[in-house]
This record gives sequence, C-alpha cells and structure tokens, in this order.
Amino acid sequence: MMENILIDEARMHQVKENYFRIQNKIEEATLRSGRVAGSARLMAVTKTVKAPYINQVIDAGLDLIGENRVQEFLAKKEALHLSHCEKHLIGHLQTNKVKQIVPHVDMIDSVGSLKLAKEIACCAKALNRCLPVLLEVNIGEEESKSGFFLDELPERLAEISTFDGLFVRGLMTIPPICDRIEESRAYFLKMQQTFIDIGSKNIDNIDMSILSMGMSGDFVCAVEAGSTMVRVGSALFGARAYL
Ligand SMILES: *Cc1c(COP(=O)(O)O)cnc(C)c1O
Repeated sequence: MMENILIDEARMHQVKENYFRIQNKIEEATLRSGRVAGSARLMAVTKTVKAPYINQVIDAGLDLIGENRVQEFLAKKEALHLSHCEKHLIGHLQTNKVKQIVPHVDMIDSVGSLKLAKEIACCAKALNRCLPVLLEVNIGEEESKSGFFLDELPERLAEISTFDGLFVRGLMTIPPICDRIEESRAYFLKMQQTFIDIGSKNIDNIDMSILSMGMSGDFVCAVEAGSTMVRVGSALFGARAYL
C-alpha cells in the first residue's frame, strides 16, 4: 500500500546534496588516514524518514540502509527501492520481534545479549538461513545502553560463534555522548583495538570484517579511527520529527 505523501522538493534536493557531501567526507577521511578507498561504507539511518527521501539517496547510489524499528520497517519496505540495497536492523531488538524481522533483513547489527543471539539463530535456522550479525559493544559501560562489556566480549563471542543460524561479521558500538571530539576518538580507538585483537585470534566460524561506528556528529573521526561502516541519519535527511 502506498501512503499518500506530500513531497518537499527543497528537502529532496537537500538530501541528495547531503548524500554526495557526506560520501566525499568519508572518502577524504579514508584516504587521509592511509586506508584503501572505499573501505568505509555509508549506511543511511532511516528511522522516521518517509520512503521518497530514502529512495532519493538509493537512486543516487546508496546501497545500505539501517532501520531501528521492526514495525516501521515492515510498513515502509514495499515502497523502498531495495533491489540493489542492503538492509540492516540496527536498533534495540526485543526477542519477541525477532521472528518478524529475520526474513526481511540482510543483517542484524545490534546483538547485545546471548538471549537475542539464540533467538536470531533459532529463527534464521528455521528459514534455512545463516544470518550475518554484528555484536554490539557497550564501550562506555553505560547502564542505560545495551551491548556487551569489553571484559565479557571474548567469552560471549566464543559461545555465539558456535550457534547455527547466525554468523558474526564484526562489531558495532554507540559510544557515550561526548562534549569534545577527542573523547569520542578515544572510544573509537579503543573499539578499533578490540576489533583488531579479536580479528587476529582467528576464531572459527566468525569473520571480523565490519566495525560499525560513527554517526552524524562524529563520522569523520570514526573513519579516521578505523570505522568500516558509519551510520548517518540526521546529517543526511535533516532533523528527525518524532510523531
Ligand atoms: C539514529 C541512529 C543513528 C543515526 O543517528 P544520527 O545522529 O541522526 O546520525 C545511528 N545509529 C543508531 C543505532 C541509531 O539509532
């Protein structure tokens, strides 16, 4: 079902411009830090954004979107130009919603508990799939956030890597909100070190290739610190209107 949406042409234009500007900044930061061109990908974060604005960036070349909410994604996905676009679930996921979302996404980027990992593995297996996932790391050890603490990560990863039905492709994090970019950089660098350390252990049945970190306010810094996937919402689509 197509919703009737009034399209704001000025915003459509702005979104496209934002897209090219952000891609350029990512590319510059990648090269500046001595990395291979194209080694940091842009994910458009689409929560609260209506389909025409999302299609605007997909049609301009974007190939990766991240949605937070199961219900919202299922409601708008038919209207999206997804044939050449990967779709990830990036937000906090309740175990009772796993069954609904697993058939419709290419990756779940926010696996922050064993219980959730088990449920994803179980649902994916029932569909004969092996779903790629990222483990969420609570790098600032904040009570309000989900994700694994660094000291429990190796043990949890070892356990999750044995589950049939999912495949760990890397790590994601949302660091604490920082006043200064140098504080954010310290968290990003800590994540990068963790990512490299785990990758060098060559654990069976995992592939540490994705490090998802960096959002609208700090994606350049995150790329400089080794991010391979930045998740950008408001800098791309404008401020979110929560209805
Ligand atoms: C909303 C959201 C983002 C994007 O935030 P912006 O600051 O708007 O770029 C990134 N990651 C997650 C998990 C989010 O929920």
